[in-house]
Amino acid sequence: RFDEVVFQYAGIKRPTNHDRIYILETGYGATLERENSDWLFRPDVDPMSLVQNPGYSPDAYRYGAIPSNLLPVFIDAAKKYGIKWYILAAIAYRESGFNPNAVGPWVTVGGKMTRALGMMQFLPDTFEYYGTDVNGNGKSPFDPEDAIYAAARMIAENGGRVGNYHRALYRYNRADWYVRDVLAIAENYRAIYGEDGRGQGLLAWPTERGYPITSFFGLRTLSGEEEMHYGIDIATPVGTPLYAIADGVVVAAGPARGYGNWIVIQHLDFVSIYGHLYADGILVSVGQRVTKGQLIGKSGNAGRSTGPHLHFGIALGSFPQAIQQKRYVNPLLYVQP
Ligand SMILES: [Zn+2]
Repeated sequence: RFDEVVFQYAGIKRPTNHDRIYILETGYGATLERENSDWLFRPDVDPMSLVQNPGYSPDAYRYGAIPSNLLPVFIDAAKKYGIKWYILAAIAYRESGFNPNAVGPWVTVGGKMTRALGMMQFLPDTFEYYGTDVNGNGKSPFDPEDAIYAAARMIAENGGRVGNYHRALYRYNRADWYVRDVLAIAENYRAIYGEDGRGQGLLAWPTERGYPITSFFGLRTLSGEEEMHYGIDIATPVGTPLYAIADGVVVAAGPARGYGNWIVIQHLDFVSIYGHLYADGILVSVGQRVTKGQLIGKSGNAGRSTGPHLHFGIALGSFPQAIQQKRYVNPLLYVQP
């Protein structure tokens, strides 16, 4: 087995399951490929089935926001089958990053080699059963509307219609971590877009627009060390205006380890974090109410920073637990450049 070869070569005597997952995910550089770790543990999975997903788009996955042309499709499909629209959107994001052309790795199901197709990653047999030609152009798992309606029907008929999304999602992809992932993403979408999908939508961008994102949320290598990056970095020159992404109350404004100085704002059910400010870049004080789009500070280059930039993060829940417990999420689910 490949993992045994790696551990022998690296001189690791007693690898844990975590080591195995780590080796695999480091190789792929993406937790998105986590389902592929099956072949490390299950003798019945053919390692040759482990191929790169040609349709996988890291950018689509990184950005996370629901494409505006798809939002009404999720809402209408969910309404037709009596389920929640944000469950469908979360599946599409988790499965393919909203990529209609996604093709999954080869897997063995019931002794046959097969692979998942399209935005909702249907196995051909499953799509054949649940799918219909929604828009009169031929039935295809690569047609976003056909795929989304088929997923809505599958979720509805496996528990979704009576609100048992855990069971329905487990039928969709038999792994507890998958169910947890999708439910967490769905909860974010509900919070951002509202129960009916017609809420405020995305929040304000945290700084002047036009500056590139130089580091995304997730694992990254810094000075040769792998580490989790709990936010995004935006390459703003020192002194660039910073804005509140939503209404809220300032809960921290001052020195913070690693960040130089930071501003933390408590919103309804999450906090936003602005890092690497200089002391004179803080224009708000603790306890102050702020409104969406309000000027709150100026970006800097303080703390553990390799150049002028804004570190921006979002953590779920209330300050300070949200940060102490590292309940960070990808900020690009909430804000878009
Ligand atoms: Zn950062």
